[in-house]
Amino acid sequence: ILFINPVVREEDLPRHVPYGIALLASIAMNQGHQVQVFDQNAWRTDPETIDEVLKADSWDVIGLGGITTAYNSIKSIVKQAKVICPESTIILGGGVLTSIPREIMGFLPEVKIGVIGEAFNTLPEILKMIDVKENNWSAIDGIIFRDKENKLIVTKQRELVENLDSLPFPAWELFPLEEIYFKNSQLIFSEEGMTTKRRLDINASFGCSLICRYCYHLGLAGDMSYSSDKNGKEKVVFDEPGSYTRTNRFHSPEYIVKMVKFLREKYNVDFISFLDENLMTMDQYSGRTWIKEICRLWVENGLQPTCIRDKIPHDETCSGVHWAGTSHATLCNQEVLKTMRNAGCSHLIYGYESFSPEVMKSIGKGATPET
Ligand code: SF4
Repeated sequence: ILFINPVVREEDLPRHVPYGIALLASIAMNQGHQVQVFDQNAWRTDPETIDEVLKADSWDVIGLGGITTAYNSIKSIVKQAKVICPESTIILGGGVLTSIPREIMGFLPEVKIGVIGEAFNTLPEILKMIDVKENNWSAIDGIIFRDKENKLIVTKQRELVENLDSLPFPAWELFPLEEIYFKNSQLIFSEEGMTTKRRLDINASFGCSLICRYCYHLGLAGDMSYSSDKNGKEKVVFDEPGSYTRTNRFHSPEYIVKMVKFLREKYNVDFISFLDENLMTMDQYSGRTWIKEICRLWVENGLQPTCIRDKIPHDETCSGVHWAGTSHATLCNQEVLKTMRNAGCSHLIYGYESFSPEVMKSIGKGATPET
């Protein structure tokens, strides 16, 4: 299988290893599949180089995924792939496909199978089906495919993975860390962020317990369901105001700290950026135990930065792992912020959409100008 990471945020440097692709690559390798990655977002090559990659092997599967703004890149890559590898099965997943599966499959006839929502169990089932040279696609939950008459079929909704700790660590080793990602480690939000030289991202939870009207959770938070359109065709729908559902899931603090320790030992990372939708809402959901325990284990496992341990200014001699994530203005409090700072948290990002009480109320953010 060849995973291709499409270009996203073309105007910026590539700063983030694609977590979903890295995780799926790891899952596929654990199941005995031969996996290669071409990270087009990192390399930003010309189309001729992608041609060479596509010609480099006889790929059974070419897998792509990304958010909606990667569409342009995905579109040109799948067209190239179909010409050069006509026998390969092209699979597309991620937010770009999940949000409007029928439309995207219509726009991209080169894609044979679309993965709707979470792919952790769906992709292995697809790969197994290809391995045994069968095409009973309707038996696999969570996909959209074309039948013999070229009609799009949406299969049953895929159950979410209950125990996140059952997932392996992402396959960071398949990505150009030294060549690209570590060079682009810097984040502008704090001194520690600006001076980091070896940052990686991790994702410690899926979902968010809040219901901001504009927020889209990719179907990973239990807010996606199927319904039928007026012609009886299944389609994906997301929660509307008044009918919110949520499935919040988080990795155990032990799993998270073990992963960071692994990254420290293997790649000498000095900074971890949490990709989670919102660390603070997840902490609230956990009953205010999750972050506290992560921080306790962070210190216990020797990851606390020495500048904080020794109460000295941060400089290039600082050792340990600083970190950052997202927060919520109303849900954070002094106690949790102090605990996080003590474990090396350098900055938290808040979405201040507005300071107008009317706007804040109407978007349902759960914050007021005072908080
Ligand atoms: S707090 Fe953030 S992640 Fe949660 S619903 Fe609101 S915008 Fe979405």
